[in-house]
Amino acid sequence: MCIFCKIVNKEIPNNTVAENNNFLAFHDLYPKAPIHILIIPKQHVDCFQDVSPETMAGLTAFAQEVATKIGIDKTGYRLITNNGEDGGQEVGHLHFHMLGGGKLVWDHSHEDNHKSL
Ligand code: 5GP
Ligand code: ZN
Repeated sequence: MCIFCKIVNKEIPNNTVAENNNFLAFHDLYPKAPIHILIIPKQHVDCFQDVSPETMAGLTAFAQEVATKIGIDKTGYRLITNNGEDGGQEVGHLHFHMLGGGKLVWDHSHEDNHKSL
């Protein structure tokens, strides 16, 4: 069982922000912004490339609710998913990073600085 499935099953503790039957939002253990929340489907999906449009529809509504609940719906935020090896995905259970709570820098470029992209 993957680490985020263990979090869903409460085998690993987490700092929950919000949840419903299908989705869970919890604080990232190593925050990279003043607010750094992970949003996941409770049912295991490997990555964005494998997720159904139906699951994404529910996840979209849930993410919007999370942003409103923590008060960054008006100030803004960034929603990111890292997909696969080149995308830098480390945990193989689909998750969206919701980053906010301050002005964010844009620093997600290719190591070679666009040369070969
Ligand atoms: P990825 O690199 O796969 O896009 O992001 C994985 C994220 O999961 C990282 O931001 C990392 O800090 C976070 N993370 C990894 N293990 C745990 C954990 O056990 N609990 C929590 N809350 N976050 C975790
Ligand atoms: Zn999983």
